[in-house]
Amino acid sequence: MRNDVEATAPRPDRMGSGLRVEDATVRYPGRTASTLAVDDVTLGVEAGEVLALLGPSGCGKSSLLRAVAGLEPMAAGRVLWGGVDLTRVPVHRRGFGLMFQDGQLFPHRDVAGNVAYGLRGTSFGATRASRAERVAEMLDLVGLDGFGARSISTLSGGQAQRVALARALAPQPRLLLLDEPLSSLDRRLREELAVDVARVLREAGTMALYVTHDHDEAFAVADRVAVMIDGRVRRVAGPAELVADPGDAEVAEFLGLGS
Ligand code: ADP
Ligand code: MG
Repeated sequence: MRNDVEATAPRPDRMGSGLRVEDATVRYPGRTASTLAVDDVTLGVEAGEVLALLGPSGCGKSSLLRAVAGLEPMAAGRVLWGGVDLTRVPVHRRGFGLMFQDGQLFPHRDVAGNVAYGLRGTSFGATRASRAERVAEMLDLVGLDGFGARSISTLSGGQAQRVALARALAPQPRLLLLDEPLSSLDRRLREELAVDVARVLREAGTMALYVTHDHDEAFAVADRVAVMIDGRVRRVAGPAELVADPGDAEVAEFLGLGS
């Protein structure tokens, strides 16, 4: 329902708000030939939206996400936020949060220490009390109320990813970039957590670019899905619209829609 409403609602500020990636190209030099990992991609994540970037392994999803984050230089193209060019702005000044497949939690800090990590220098970081309050709020949001003093080594895989999500959201990033955040979990847990991640992002009011190779996961979390194949974004649509009209045979086949 939400997608239908969003798709038809007038958005006069569409060009200027949120994230815009224009003509992005990422190329890796090789010994004999270079790899064109991201081939002239133009894409937007609009205010309040969760956009899934969905495609098979090796199609360039992580390269594009890393370019948006500022972790990967682009051979061509621009990254803009609210119309402002960020292409040459360093990673830590873009105001984006990051979450990866392996949550990369700090093993020597407890759960609360991990979630508090990014709070220094933010409005939540001024005092010990304000940090503790934000940590408690985030742990509650991801369903880990009371886990603050737990050691990282005692967490299950799903719990560890919940902590990673809480840590990424704590400083209130204007955009969260997630790269296969649930891919190391088994399918049942992945399905359960995908629904939870979708809820958490909406409750936190955080826009997100969510990379995954799993279409069920993409459909569970996203307002719109961008399908990427061979370095190019081939189709961007809401889940229902995408299933009804995948656009071409290759996208249909990747989505398992047959022909
Ligand atoms: P995905 O995340 O969709 O699996 P990637 O962005 O990781 O895809 O990779 C896209 C292509 O770029 C692949 O062919 C991959 O081998 C290549 N690639 C990715 N990272 C590098 C790198 N650091 N150096 C060289 N080639 C790379
Ligand atoms: Mg990847």
